[in-house]
Amino acid sequence: MRMRKKKNFDSRFESCSDLVIETPEDIGNKPVYLEIGCGKGKFISGLAAKYPDRSLIAMEKVVDVAITAMERIREEEINNVRFLLKDALELNDFFQKGDVERIYLNFSDPWPKGRHYKRRLTYRRFLEIYKSILPDNGEIFFKTDKRDFFDFSLEEFTASGFKLRNITYDLHKSEFAENNIETEYERKFSALGSKINRVEAYLE
Ligand code: SAH
Repeated sequence: MRMRKKKNFDSRFESCSDLVIETPEDIGNKPVYLEIGCGKGKFISGLAAKYPDRSLIAMEKVVDVAITAMERIREEEINNVRFLLKDALELNDFFQKGDVERIYLNFSDPWPKGRHYKRRLTYRRFLEIYKSILPDNGEIFFKTDKRDFFDFSLEEFTASGFKLRNITYDLHKSEFAENNIETEYERKFSALGSKINRVEAYLE
């Protein structure tokens, strides 16, 4: 049974392998928009419809999850999305300063236990990596339903030299709802009654 599952995965992966970035040369037109932790790809597919002329990169460290996103992009015949199947800690192996104009962090793992705060993708160690690939006026768009994680992130952004704008604690009732692209987690958590927090953090 295990073998069959593995075999099936291999052929699914193989049929999407041209979407996978192996080396920095595979990236194409720069600067790009980058989503870190794309999950099953609902958001990046919506983003591709909004920015058909921009190179978009979906980063995801769990390949079993990313395969669904890759199949979606293939199915929808989207041609400006590529996948980086790596950990965010490895971003510097692929990008240099200014290569990534905007980063999207959607419903990143909140790591709610206090002692795990260094694992959060908005912890300052990660923000320093993002700063090293963003241009001087680069930006990060972040949303989460977890209010504690959001407040922590606002502090980390500020401590790392980012300015904050367009903050909302209830995205779906805000002026930003109109342009919002919903993610899988967003749909799930808002259906359960959670409010969505969103911020744009930017450098200048
Ligand atoms: N953005 C999607 C999924 C959110 S879950 C949505 O909103 O529906 C968070 C995702 O981030 C998971 O798929 C997880 O595997 C991925 N992730 C967590 N840490 C990561 C890291 N360091 N590098 C790349 N991806 C990561």
